[in-house]
Amino acid sequence: MFTCRVIERIDELFDADDAVMQGLNTVIGSNHIEDSTGLDAALDIERLCDTLRQYTPITVLTGAGCSTASGIPDYRDFAGRWKQKPPMQYGEFMSHESARCRYWSRSMIGWVRFSSARPNPLHFALATLEQHDLIHSLITQNVDSLHSQAGQQQVIDLHGRLADVVCTTCGDLSPREMMQQRLYECNPDFARHIQSGATDILRTTADGDVLLDDLAGLDDFSIPPCSRCGGVLKPDVVFFGEAVPRERVSEAYAALESSAMLLVVGSSLMVYSGYRFCRAAVRSNIPVVIVNAGRTRADDVAEFKIEADLFRVFDAVIDRLDVA
Ligand SMILES: [Zn+2]
Repeated sequence: MFTCRVIERIDELFDADDAVMQGLNTVIGSNHIEDSTGLDAALDIERLCDTLRQYTPITVLTGAGCSTASGIPDYRDFAGRWKQKPPMQYGEFMSHESARCRYWSRSMIGWVRFSSARPNPLHFALATLEQHDLIHSLITQNVDSLHSQAGQQQVIDLHGRLADVVCTTCGDLSPREMMQQRLYECNPDFARHIQSGATDILRTTADGDVLLDDLAGLDDFSIPPCSRCGGVLKPDVVFFGEAVPRERVSEAYAALESSAMLLVVGSSLMVYSGYRFCRAAVRSNIPVVIVNAGRTRADDVAEFKIEADLFRVFDAVIDRLDVA
């Protein structure tokens, strides 16, 4: 049975994850020692606050580093390298039923935890800066909707939202939660396995997928089609290898062009769809300021960069700007 084979794999997975996490902590630990902390950090934060006051309105570009404290892991380590297996490619998803089965079965497990993620203090800090007219738009590469949940008003979800499902034939949009119910109905054995909590220890990736090399029994897995036209359903997020919709890119460029500064928060900018806004800012003489816990692709073009814990930085910024 499918369910039994999945359960057998959990112990192996847990051991493997422990080893990965230990390796990761070593990297994180050594980087933190070199980060700007103490007196240097205080000076950096003073400079960041001065810059925020000077260059309004600001467009913010955020990445996975903003959501890690909400329980959604980042894809990349402090050097910008993959921490995990790269996520599903668009071409693979669209071309192969087996790839879609793999995606939806893992997503069915991952959604339980992903959908329960809540905004963390960093999301609320950025929403506070918007309320005080320092930020006028926020472009996010995250698909978790946590900025909106924190009350951020002007959000451009560059890579879409995992909370929505789109039909690749007729374009019909429907809630992901509804898809979860339909997946449960189509796969009752698998649903019982998830609802029993047996999959709780599996780790979720940044796009709501579950980190699991292979699920046995995928031949039995059933994916509901679009209820309007019978077409193939896909989460309404931009997959790796898929282009960001043109109008969304234009909206993001327009936001940037009406800004006095681009502030990058929690992104390694390794994906071109985010990095291009740094290039555009430089071309338009808009200063780029980066707050990230590791190396980014735009370090060499940044006006200045704070390489430190994001939460401590923005906690101090809110305190110093007296906008809480
Ligand atoms: Zn359809």
